[in-house]
Amino acid sequence: MSRANVFQFLDLPREMPRRIPVELRTAGDWGELYGRFGAAEARHQAGRCLDCGNPYCSWKCPVHNAIPQWLQLVQENRILEAAELCHSTNPLPEVCGRVCPQDRLCEGSCTLDDGFGAVTIGAVEKYIVDTALDQGWRPDLSDVQPTGCRVAVVGAGPAGIACADRLARAGIQAVVYDRYEQIGGLLQFGIPTFKLDKAVIARRRQVLEGMGIQFRLGVEVGRDVTLEQLLDEYDAVFLGTGAYRYTDGGLPGQDAEGVLPALPFLVQNGRIVTGTDPATAQSRPIAGWEDRIRLPDLGGRRVLVLGGGDTGMDCVRSAIRLGAGRVTCAYRRDEASMPGSAREVANAREEGVRFLFNRQPLAIETDEHNRVTGVRMVETRPGEPDARGRRAPVPIEGSESVIGCDVVIIAFGFSPSVPEWMRQAGIEGTANGRIVTGGPGRLPYQTANPRVFAGGDAVRGADLVVTAVAEGRDAAASIAQALAGQTAAVAA
Ligand code: FAD
Ligand code: SF4
Repeated sequence: MSRANVFQFLDLPREMPRRIPVELRTAGDWGELYGRFGAAEARHQAGRCLDCGNPYCSWKCPVHNAIPQWLQLVQENRILEAAELCHSTNPLPEVCGRVCPQDRLCEGSCTLDDGFGAVTIGAVEKYIVDTALDQGWRPDLSDVQPTGCRVAVVGAGPAGIACADRLARAGIQAVVYDRYEQIGGLLQFGIPTFKLDKAVIARRRQVLEGMGIQFRLGVEVGRDVTLEQLLDEYDAVFLGTGAYRYTDGGLPGQDAEGVLPALPFLVQNGRIVTGTDPATAQSRPIAGWEDRIRLPDLGGRRVLVLGGGDTGMDCVRSAIRLGAGRVTCAYRRDEASMPGSAREVANAREEGVRFLFNRQPLAIETDEHNRVTGVRMVETRPGEPDARGRRAPVPIEGSESVIGCDVVIIAFGFSPSVPEWMRQAGIEGTANGRIVTGGPGRLPYQTANPRVFAGGDAVRGADLVVTAVAEGRDAAASIAQALAGQTAAVAA
């Protein structure tokens, strides 16, 4: 591949697409923060790629996108070919382009990140796929030979969608079950609209249905249908059920009025923003919280969010848009150790969020009516590194103080669980609730039940959209391999 001018990055600085002005965001604008590149901007930004010969960006990308190659196609304005190439590795490229923490993945490994500003890989990926889909591009499955095999996919999140996409391309009928009324998993019921417009998921559903994938929504496996029934009806099953076990921290006072768990807060709010509030729409309650939570009016109130991951950032930025008077995020380690995207932290700061680092909550303080008045916190310092090199926060004696607030949102994270209905089918789980897959004598992503495969957060623990996509995609390859072996055995 040859570049017209490999030194273009010297003349053209890194630019992201235009953002919604901060005054609108803080006044309650829920629109997707970043706009889309125009054709010329996309060409210019793609042209900043050095084609350095060592595409660390591709290696660091969990789905190993052919990044330099599609950047070159954008420069040549060959958008439909670029979209084809994007989909060859990634079943959800327009979503990843929007929500991946690029600063930790592809862009963080770009050679130009060292002083010149990384190529805006995520924004170009979004441009390619949005443009191609707008122009009517759709995956071409006309050469696919149907195998006659059928697979049930449990969970319509990124892992399940990626698996179904790859099964369809392998000629295997995928039927996707989800307990919710819409597809997307946390893309739909978790990530706020300012990071991912829900029209993107609706459009992807049309694409998937056009590929022959069927959805059975509002069906909870283990309740409305058993895994045994699915195994009777289908040749194999994929479990992409995610991680929904809430970590509450066990804080004294956490049952007080004004304490909200992060996910129901985000989901309920997302439903209101998108006009799918359960009061008016048919919907399932959020797993684990069978009663709908009532969202308090945050207008003018002091909101304290505990936790510094992606969920915490979504909570603080939602609270800003809901008109909170003061929004603070408290995290028990330092800023460099924050697990979420640095870009999202910068956006939160710009929107007026205040950060308290090295603070660990001890208890929620309440008044005589059991209403939140503050959180007792202790300052921390980094302790000895653990096996993974992470330094545990160590409380500093005598450093306790109370941070006054009216609302506390707990965003300590989620873990998966292996429910009884899975265990009854022979699925094994680890002590921390992850489904066990692979290992000696098994295909990658195959569980202890050879006809059941699994991937995404249910296997990895709470992680990223792109890692769930990678696992769903690769699990489909294992399923196709297992079914091909079966068909060959029958034929013999
Ligand atoms: P999920 O997306 O959780 O999908 C699982 C699906 O399975 C759900 O639809 C669920 O309803 C369904 N299901 C479960 N059990 C059953 C059952 N018994 N029967 C039928 N259906 C069932 N990652 C990023 O990369 N970038 C971000 O910016 C980002 N922000 C996030 C913000 C929040 C608030 C949260 C909570 C997570 C965020 N993540 C982000 C993480 C990312 O969303 C997840 O890692 C990813 O969605 C996991 O995909 P999955 O398919 O494994 O699971
Ligand atoms: Fe980067 Fe994510 Fe796209 Fe990979 S999928 S190139 S990590 S934005």
